[in-house]
Amino acid sequence: MRILLTNDDGLHAEGIQALYAALAPWGEITVAAPMRECSAGGHAISTATAIPVRQVPFGQGGSAYAVDGTPADCVKLALAHLMKHRPDVVVSGINHGANVGVCVLYSGTVSAALEGAIEGLPAFAVSALMRRGRQPDFDAIARRFKTLAEEILADGVQPGLVYNVNFPDRSVSRLKAVRWAPQSRSVPFGGHFVRRRDPRGRPYYWLLEKPHPTNGEKATDVALLVKGHVTVTPLGCDMTRHEALRRRRRPRPTKPGGKKRG
Ligand code: MN
Repeated sequence: MRILLTNDDGLHAEGIQALYAALAPWGEITVAAPMRECSAGGHAISTATAIPVRQVPFGQGGSAYAVDGTPADCVKLALAHLMKHRPDVVVSGINHGANVGVCVLYSGTVSAALEGAIEGLPAFAVSALMRRGRQPDFDAIARRFKTLAEEILADGVQPGLVYNVNFPDRSVSRLKAVRWAPQSRSVPFGGHFVRRRDPRGRPYYWLLEKPHPTNGEKATDVALLVKGHVTVTPLGCDMTRHEALRRRRRPRPTKPGGKKRG
């Protein structure tokens, strides 16, 4: 098994280091991750700036590519240049914080996995809900994720899909069952800005994250995650709303008394 491992919190984050250790028995891991945090950086790619890359020590005697670019840059570059062989799977995470609801659009973690999916590879985004400043047990989550990923891959994956996996903020021994769930439309960044002044007296704003509202939903990724389930949501890069397309294509009834066409 050849794995491309990346994240959006940066190479030095605890989450990616835990995944590296847990996935090591699986096969050959190439790590290519941003050298700076790119959380909520979305699916940006660098087209107007250089992308410097350095090889740095990583994990127990391993090495990683530290990329001065975005999470999607890391995946693009790894597939095109840094890896000798194409990986079997792309894994992105473990993100420090959940990526559910509309956050999948802001998330660099999910975007890195989506970049793998765009290239036709199966891909996993892995994130851990963090609430009240509690630090998740990344090592235990990484080991539990490995088992789950093996089960999903053994079941036969669809290439071009991201399996967006989220862990709740409870110990791994108390996790509720894994639930496959649709993405919620819940937004945790509802325009909660704090306004302050910098040392020169000029105003600035800082966007704050609030807990995801569940909006009365029962079976979405957000609703199940906050109840303590591990959630898996299959995502793709085609954002077409097929029901809207079908509605436009359906022949429209002619209005009674309306002009005949043609
Ligand atoms: Mn992050």
